[in-house]
Amino acid sequence: MSDAPSTEPAPAAPQPRIVEVQQAVTRELDRIAPVIDELGALFEAAGHELCLVGGPVRDAMLGRRHNDLDFTTSARPDDTEAILARWGEATWDMGRAFGTIGCRKGPWQVEVTTYRSETYDPASRKPDVDFGDSLAGDLGRRDFTVNAMAVRVPGRQVEDPYGGVVDLAQQVLRTPGAPEDSFSDDPLRMMRAARFAAQLGFDVAPEVVAAMTAMADRIEIISAERVRDELVKLVCAPYPRRGLTLLVETGLADRVLPELSRLVAERDEHHRHKDVYQHTLTVLEQAIDLEDRLEGGGPDFVARFAALMHDVGKPKTRRFLDDGSVTFHHHDVVGAKLTRKRMKALKFSNDEIDAVAHLVELHLRFHGYGTGEWTDSAVRRYVRDAGDQLDRLHILTRADCTTRNKRKAARLAATYDALEERIGRLSEEEELASLRPALDGNQIMEVLELPPGREVGAAYKHLLELRIDKGPMSEDEARTALLAWWAERRG
Ligand code: ATP
Ligand code: MG
Repeated sequence: MSDAPSTEPAPAAPQPRIVEVQQAVTRELDRIAPVIDELGALFEAAGHELCLVGGPVRDAMLGRRHNDLDFTTSARPDDTEAILARWGEATWDMGRAFGTIGCRKGPWQVEVTTYRSETYDPASRKPDVDFGDSLAGDLGRRDFTVNAMAVRVPGRQVEDPYGGVVDLAQQVLRTPGAPEDSFSDDPLRMMRAARFAAQLGFDVAPEVVAAMTAMADRIEIISAERVRDELVKLVCAPYPRRGLTLLVETGLADRVLPELSRLVAERDEHHRHKDVYQHTLTVLEQAIDLEDRLEGGGPDFVARFAALMHDVGKPKTRRFLDDGSVTFHHHDVVGAKLTRKRMKALKFSNDEIDAVAHLVELHLRFHGYGTGEWTDSAVRRYVRDAGDQLDRLHILTRADCTTRNKRKAARLAATYDALEERIGRLSEEEELASLRPALDGNQIMEVLELPPGREVGAAYKHLLELRIDKGPMSEDEARTALLAWWAERRG
């Protein structure tokens, strides 16, 4: 692409050598011996082939451990189920039509799928599944060579017909056959390329990138849910910049996350304002670095996606003023709206949409804080408006500072520290998280001698506003204030 965005070098994963890969596999196979030896023997005795396959083989080579193990077999689902039922503690059908039976035993969870030779109807979204008879056929239908390796059990013979070990050592994603054929069979694999680049820190082979670029529009036939699931995995991965850069450079982002592409398109060649696209990727990485401040730690999809979307309102709101300066008025509100629309199209849950859009809308609030001249009431409002997103808002606001000016950055961080401290102090004194007026609805009805209705709601709201402005008040004070408000309201 001639106008491809220049990207800062993405972090690379440490590169293993082939001997190390082999040693890592041996270690992992020893660790999971209880499963592979027993299950391997059971399938062999019944006259079937069984192989560890895909993710667990790839991750074993990378020195990563899993207790979730995927297998592929020559057995048909009914036979698989009968064998697993004898071995495990619980067995279930993961989708018999697709040939997958699940099983749990102690810490191990296994999924066994019958060899496939899928044929795709290019016009439909769903693959038709045909069971196959050979491991080679099954591996040839997989997405990338590093995912197309297997270990036969119980013998532990490694099967690597497409050179996956070499690609893994060189940290590159390649398709087993021609990438054009693979992506036309299942366009979701283009998203999966970006996802695995982000998860593994690998490069994508140039011919694969070329096919993604040429075929990006085919992603449209894939259901929003499947695209979303890959996007979530990409965003929650250790190297999201790699995956996102790939989506943007291949044009896939134009289809699945056009708001991100638009940040690139809106670059200002005259440098009157900072590059919003690069800023966004940096904010995302800074937010990731702050995730350990969250109760559950990371990866946190909502915080990350809010970081990614926080400035998407900028292109639409950019105005150049006569004096040469630039403004983005209300880009927070516009950005929240665009975020909502995109997440809805991607079929996210309402809770996720609300959380991310809320953060985008609030990401600028702190900038009115100046050097600490917010009143207590402004601090209470900040807490109340953030609601259950407060911890993430702290992260997003801190991450949003990407100035290279170290003094300025330190000053902003210190100011935010001070705000968090004030919130902590006020919270201790006033239980800020559960702000309530001194009188509840029943008491309000009693004082004003009113039946339930809209007036009671208005009275409650008034007392809550007072509570936020003035801090805690006694029931008597609240009663007096309520009567005064009522008298004025009735004129
Ligand atoms: P994780 O489960 O951690 O997300 P994984 O590598 O197990 O990662 P899955 O999506 O679970 O990935 O897929 C399991 C295996 O099935 C992959 O390793 C790959 O070999 C194959 N596979 C899955 N989806 C596809 C697809 N759309 N096209 C081709 N092969 C696929
Ligand atoms: Mg898996």
